[in-house]
Amino acid sequence: AKAQGKNCYVVHNAELLNEMMDEYMLEVDLRKALENKEFVLYYQPQIHNNTGVLVGLEALIRWQHPTLGLIPPGKFIKLAEENGLITQIGEWVIDEACSQNKKWQDAGMMPVKISVNLSTQQFLTRNLISFMEEVLERTAIDPAYVVVEITEYMAMEYDYSIQVLEQLKTLGIGISIDDFGTGYSSLNYLKNFPIDYIKIDRSFVSELMNNEKDAIIVKAIITLAHNLHKEVIAEGVETKDQLDFLKNHQCDISQGYFFSKPLPADKIEKIYLVQR
Ligand code: C2E
Ligand code: CA
Ligand code: CA
Ligand code: CA
Repeated sequence: AKAQGKNCYVVHNAELLNEMMDEYMLEVDLRKALENKEFVLYYQPQIHNNTGVLVGLEALIRWQHPTLGLIPPGKFIKLAEENGLITQIGEWVIDEACSQNKKWQDAGMMPVKISVNLSTQQFLTRNLISFMEEVLERTAIDPAYVVVEITEYMAMEYDYSIQVLEQLKTLGIGISIDDFGTGYSSLNYLKNFPIDYIKIDRSFVSELMNNEKDAIIVKAIITLAHNLHKEVIAEGVETKDQLDFLKNHQCDISQGYFFSKPLPADKIEKIYLVQR
């Protein structure tokens, strides 16, 4: 048994070593990815429930790796947070999303809001506001068509977070709480943060039709949000049943595979963006 245990240990170590090598190499590549222009944004439609009209697009980053192919954010965002690259990557995301949205508007497409995800570090970076100002000015995008998605990390630097959010609001940018219901003290945000949208986390939406508790929670979030004059976006909507439930309970906007997976800009343009 001991020998076996030892063998397992050796194998396990080899695997661990492989993993560490992979991660190290990925980090080396990640450092070059920005200057090699290997990041791309995919966009996922957000559909107004009452009208069926496209009202927004969430920008979601992918890494077009030269040999490994298209890498999803789940595989490199954490790494980028650990080594500090996330701030630069995040700035690229904001820049690219605003530029793309402005291009679409200039081409005469129906204007939609573009949402970008802000990481913890990026949110706490002291120059976030001046960077935002600079991008708004340079791209000439109307800030009414820009939304930032934030999560529970806001709780960490509470007073500072409120300050940053107030400044974003002053710039005219929309604010959305992502993955709502999963973090802690989220109800506090509703009370004290100047937010416009609440995104109900996918975990509540996916079990909506099978789990009475999820249904109760979703209904309660919608009512609560509306009473506080916030709009509600459901994420991870995959079925007609889920959509019907959300519509019946006055959820404002839906996003999920039922409508579309995130798509590259050219596909979004062809399928979703119609000339005014
Ligand atoms: P998120 O912000 O919660 O984004 C939603 C994720 O759910 C996306 O995964 C999206 O493709 C996926 N999704 C959308 N609809 C459905 C559905 O109906 N069913 C299922 N099963 N999944 C759905 P993605 O693109 O892999 O992004 C994962 C996470 O990576 C995001 O979660 C976000 O936290 C982070 N992320 C993505 N882009 C960025 C970025 O530019 N900056 C930062 N800081 N984080 C990003
Ligand atoms: Ca998000
Ligand atoms: Ca989310
Ligand atoms: Ca999420």
